[in-house]
Amino acid sequence: GFSYYCTTSEVRERTLIAVKPDGVQRRLVGQIVQRFEKRGFKLVGLKMLKAPEDLLSQHYLNLQKKAFFPQVLCYMTSGPVVVMVWEGYNVVRSSRVMVGKTNPAEADPGTVRGDFGIHVSRNVVHASDSVEGAQREIQLWHNPGRTYTTFEDQSSLGISAR
Ligand code: GDP
Ligand code: MG
Repeated sequence: GFSYYCTTSEVRERTLIAVKPDGVQRRLVGQIVQRFEKRGFKLVGLKMLKAPEDLLSQHYLNLQKKAFFPQVLCYMTSGPVVVMVWEGYNVVRSSRVMVGKTNPAEADPGTVRGDFGIHVSRNVVHASDSVEGAQREIQLWHNPGRTYTTFEDQSSLGISAR
């Protein structure tokens, strides 16, 4: 059909966006999802979990030797995260722009971190920084063979069953 002539592979580009524990705790998930939907991107995966340290070590492989790495682990394990995969044209670069600079003090107003971020250790969201990085991170977080602590384990999220 026409799609053969009209569709480019960039349209199917995917990125990993995560709402970090501070964003979940502050009830910002909906607003963040809405920003990506409004921009025209397609949500193709979502899950909530308490991230295990070994997964975070893989995720932040390039930060492992940094002096602040223990703080990153402490931050990212302070509560559940909401991990999403978004798809669309140029989604990796566009979402980095939408998320803003790592340090909220330097992030532009209108970006997620510029609007909601408090500190480099309370910067609300993660976004993959390259197409290759996104593919690696999607594999890592959405590997069905891995065992996770999920929202079904209510005690891990501090939700009482009642
Ligand atoms: P990002 O891609 O913009 O998230 O930034 P990086 O990949 O460089 O760092 C990953 C995450 O580590 C950041 O989002 C921060 O939460 C945290 N981080 C980065 N630099 C620092 C730092 O200097 N101090 C602390 N405490 N955390 C940092
Ligand atoms: Mg990064």
